[in-house]
Amino acid sequence: MIDLSHLKGRRFGVFGLGRTGMATVRALLAAGADVIVWDDNPDLQVNAEKEGAEVVDFKVAPLSFLEAIVWSPGAPFLAPKPLAAASAARRQGVPLISDIQLLLEAGHGAGVIGVTGSNGKSTTTALIGHILERAGKTVAVGGNLGPPALGLEQLNSNGFYVLELSSYQLELTPRPRFDISICLNVEPDHLDRHGGLHNYAAQKRRIFNNCGIAIIGTDDAHGRWLLTHLMRTGTTTEISNEKILPEGISAHENWLYDNARPVFDFRLARALKGQHNEQNAAAAYATARAVGLSANEIIPSLQSFDGLPHRQALIRQIQHVSYVNDSKATNAAAAAKALSSFERIYWIAGGLPKDGGLKDTKEWLGRVVKAYLIGQASASFKSQLSQMAPDLKAIELHTIDAALAAAHSDAQTDPKPSVVLLSPACASFDQFKNYEDRGNAFAGLVNNLKSPEPRGAAA
Ligand code: ADP
Repeated sequence: MIDLSHLKGRRFGVFGLGRTGMATVRALLAAGADVIVWDDNPDLQVNAEKEGAEVVDFKVAPLSFLEAIVWSPGAPFLAPKPLAAASAARRQGVPLISDIQLLLEAGHGAGVIGVTGSNGKSTTTALIGHILERAGKTVAVGGNLGPPALGLEQLNSNGFYVLELSSYQLELTPRPRFDISICLNVEPDHLDRHGGLHNYAAQKRRIFNNCGIAIIGTDDAHGRWLLTHLMRTGTTTEISNEKILPEGISAHENWLYDNARPVFDFRLARALKGQHNEQNAAAAYATARAVGLSANEIIPSLQSFDGLPHRQALIRQIQHVSYVNDSKATNAAAAAKALSSFERIYWIAGGLPKDGGLKDTKEWLGRVVKAYLIGQASASFKSQLSQMAPDLKAIELHTIDAALAAAHSDAQTDPKPSVVLLSPACASFDQFKNYEDRGNAFAGLVNNLKSPEPRGAAA
């Protein structure tokens, strides 16, 4: 746990008592801070009380004596509609901050590396952790991925925190100051919470305020804007997976380039398939170089990285068909990356739809043999597909069980090698707890498929 002893005797609120909130409560209480907490869920209130926190309803209690409220990034505080507790805090002049802000101000002396972007954050964060660890550095990886920031072990000035940062966390971090800041890409996502693309991009951009080294993906318009408009004094490294950069780290036609010098053949990588992963690898490589590692110290780790579950993870091969779980593709841009990585696809998509629909997948729909649509998005995805790709067969099957059974049957009877791909382009909350739950359901069903009797499974 992070040592916050400089906060002894100071007064904080914690709103939202999930994993992040409870890690914050523990770190603040261990530091001797005065803590009041709230969550609308009575079970979570009981948990916090058991650990010694004072539960107070922030909607009605006086709050003005608090220095700040550490706000759970999952809880809306501005858009689409502020929670009453957030409005109460604002009326009483209490700032809302993230646990990340407390980590940044903990004075541990360790380097802090922040990773954001619309897609690829987790993969890049995990890959940076893998590279640094294998090069003998002391690393703690967490934030939006894995353990919450304040639950990470305390490092000293030789260590590195590698933090995945969502736009929500950045929005709640008023004084960012990362040693290395990475923004991979900016695509429309979470627009309801940020009130539009402009504010969403603005929150992502905040990662660069006061940072030491900036690493910026410049394949999208926002990244290019950032590169030219960033007002800062530290160094900036540009990354691209679309062209070979004379200066910067780039990936092009299976090769990774360091200032236009080829350094790694991606065909040797175990889990960095697809152009999007080349962007993630370029960012991780740039970070490791910024930390002082040589190309020779980094390359073996690009090769040995195993990838993360639910991101284009091969679950099983049955005869000539691969079954791939990409449940983490919760928006169309991410699903487009998966579609671009395979040639002949039986595609399971749908769930809770997001703004922008399937637009970003259009370029790759020619690779889809048939689409099996699930969840709340079923009907709207069907009509979008019929407009974007009139020849593409798409059927509404509503549940993942029915979709997999049908896709399995179709793919097994297709004589050509193909992929049954779950890449939903949607959030999961209409039918599942989260994307992991959805991916696990898919993997469980795939593992139960009978081989080699495909027709039976489709009954
Ligand atoms: P995040 O943490 O930002 O959601 P992940 O690393 O978990 O990103 O990857 C989520 C999905 O996004 C993957 O399944 C993949 O299809 C897609 N993806 C991964 N990296 C990128 C990237 N650099 N650009 C676009 N899409 C990506």
